[in-house]
Amino acid sequence: MTAINKVTVLGTGVLGSQIAYQTAYHGVDVVAYDISDEVLDKAKARFAGLAQTYKAEVDGAADGAADAALDRIRYSADLADAVEDADLVIEAIPENLDLKRDTYTKLGEVAPAKTIFATNSSTLLPSDLKGFTGRPEKFLALHFANHVWRQNTAEVMGTDSTDPEVYRRVVDFAAAIGMVPIEIKKEKAGYLLNSLLVPFLSAAGQLVVDGIAEPEMIDETWRIGTGAPMGPFQIYDVVGLTTAYNISAAGDEGQRRFAEYIKENYIDKGKLGAATGEGFYAYSVE
Ligand code: NAD
Repeated sequence: MTAINKVTVLGTGVLGSQIAYQTAYHGVDVVAYDISDEVLDKAKARFAGLAQTYKAEVDGAADGAADAALDRIRYSADLADAVEDADLVIEAIPENLDLKRDTYTKLGEVAPAKTIFATNSSTLLPSDLKGFTGRPEKFLALHFANHVWRQNTAEVMGTDSTDPEVYRRVVDFAAAIGMVPIEIKKEKAGYLLNSLLVPFLSAAGQLVVDGIAEPEMIDETWRIGTGAPMGPFQIYDVVGLTTAYNISAAGDEGQRRFAEYIKENYIDKGKLGAATGEGFYAYSVE
C-alpha cells in the first residue's frame, strides 16, 4: 500500500496546528492552509509555541527534532496551491456544517484525484459531509484529541462508502505519526471517547445540581472506587468550563441547570478551568 508522504491541514487553530505539527514532527511534509496570510502569521507563532512544548514534554524533541519539524511546514492561503500534491488533506476548520460543506465542495474541485480527505470534526458524522466531497470512497473521519502529543488517540471512522484500502492507509498513517489508531467499525456520533466521556461528565453534573454531593466528594468517590487518577470535575477543569457550559446549555433540562450552575458559580467569577488557574479547583499557572 502506498504510504502517505504529503499532508495538507486545513485550519491552523487549536487542533489543526497540533495535527500539522505532529505530522511534520514525524518526518512528513506538511502544508498548513488557512483563510488569510494574517491568520497564517498567527499560526507561525502557534507552531513555534508547539516546538517549545515538545522540547519540554517529548523525549528527544530538544535535540533538534522540534526545530526540524518547523522546517517541514509550508504555509498557504490558496486552497488549490495548498493541496496540489497532497496524499491526504486533514480538515480542522470550525465546527459549522455549512462552512464544512462549502469547503469540501471547493476542495473536491481543486484537489488531485489521488487525494484522501479526512475530517477532524468532533460532532458531525462523516456521512453529513461525504456527498460534498466529490469522492466519498476517499473520505472518512480522523479524529484527534486536544494535546495530540500526549492524548494520542486517533479515532478512524469511515462511512459505508469509504474504500477499505483508503481506511487502512489512514490507519497506517496515524500510527506512523505517533498516534494510537482507534478503528471504529460503524459511524457513531461522539466516536468512542466522547460517547463514554460526555454521559459520564453529565451524570456528575446532575449529582451536584440535585444536591446529592459536592464536586470534591464525587471526584474522591470516583478515584477511590475505580482507581482512576482524576474525577469528573478535575476533567471538567482540563476541558475548560466554557466548553462545559456550551455543551450543557445545549442539553436537556437537567443539563441546562448544570450549565447555569457553572455560569453563576464559576464562569461569572472568572474561574474557567485549569488553563486560567482556577475552576472547580485552584492550580498554579506558570
Ligand atoms: P479553531 O477555531 O481553534 O480553529 C479553526 C481554524 O480554522 C482557524 O484557524 C480558522 O481561521 C480556520 N478557518 C476558518 N474557516 C476556514 C476555511 N474556510 N478554510 C480553512 N480554514 C478555516 O477550531 P478547533 O478547536 O481547532 O476545531 C477545529 C475542528 O477540530 C472542529 O471540527 C472541531 O470539532 C475539531 N476538534 C476540536 C477539538 C478541540 O479540543 N478544540 C478536539 C477534537 C476535534
